[in-house]
Amino acid sequence: MFEAPKLVDDLNVSLARYAVFGHPVAHSKSPLIHRAFAHQLGIALRYDAIDAAPGTLAAALSRFVGEGGVGASVTLPLKAEAFALAKACSARAKRLGVANTLAWHGDHWFADNTDGEGLIRDIGERHRIDLRGRRVLLVGAGGAAQGVLPALLDAGVSKVTISNRDPQRADQLCDWIGDPARVQTWYLDDLRRAGDFDAVFNATSAGQYGQALDLPFTIANPRTLAYDLSYGKAATSFLAWARAAGCAYALDGLGMLVEQAAAAFELWHGDRPDTEPVYRQLQRDAAA
Ligand code: NDP
Repeated sequence: MFEAPKLVDDLNVSLARYAVFGHPVAHSKSPLIHRAFAHQLGIALRYDAIDAAPGTLAAALSRFVGEGGVGASVTLPLKAEAFALAKACSARAKRLGVANTLAWHGDHWFADNTDGEGLIRDIGERHRIDLRGRRVLLVGAGGAAQGVLPALLDAGVSKVTISNRDPQRADQLCDWIGDPARVQTWYLDDLRRAGDFDAVFNATSAGQYGQALDLPFTIANPRTLAYDLSYGKAATSFLAWARAAGCAYALDGLGMLVEQAAAAFELWHGDRPDTEPVYRQLQRDAAA
């Protein structure tokens, strides 16, 4: 099991506080990841998981600041709320209108969004896969799909086709990005006629509910990268499909999770942790 390093917050001293806010949040791996990064770099901090129902994030954060809170990770369903309450933000958070990271700047919160960076670093740096020129199928049109779409385009993919169960949401996402030469939509039920793709991203939450996507094998070719943004049990069905379809790579979103956390850690502390040992340990835990 992943033993969280000895918690410095066991000591009765005043420490800079960090936390992940979500609803629910008890399942979050962020405390383990951030404590491991801090341990690695010899940084004393306290990192908790704090449940905040929708509509209560501002109040929860102001209590948190009163108790020494200086940095927050934000997960579902609070990312839009986090962005709205911040008084300053990074260009990428502004483009998305949602935030997964907040940094306290003395009298206001600064918002960032590290999800897209997390995905691109996992694919490019950990798995050494070049996305440039790839024709991409993005399945899903929720917050995660929106979060990674600009990063995929910035990484140099040649085309993105968005397919979503509710086709109107796919059209909305397509209109939002406003790049008709490179981004189009396709009916999820009609992918058999769409040809093949060099990369297929599953950005749906189907696996979280034990549901499987009905994807045809014809969308894959022998060099296709298949990537599920979910991880653990939620990714099992998509990864099994990818292997059966003969995809060159079948990857889950655990690496993205660790990399987006590392980018947040760097924003807060100015130091970038080595993500590999933390990723490997989480992988071993998941397999155990
Ligand atoms: P949202 O609730 O915003 O969107 C859910 C999406 O899944 C929608 O496009 C929805 O389609 C689709 N969907 C749900 N059930 C099905 C189904 N049975 N068949 C087809 N489509 C379905 O969730 P998010 O976008 O925020 O999250 C999506 C996934 O990405 C989650 O599993 C989450 O854990 C993962 N994620 C991973 C991260 C990481 O760091 N690895 C970071 C962020 C997210 P419709 O519009 O038709 O309802």
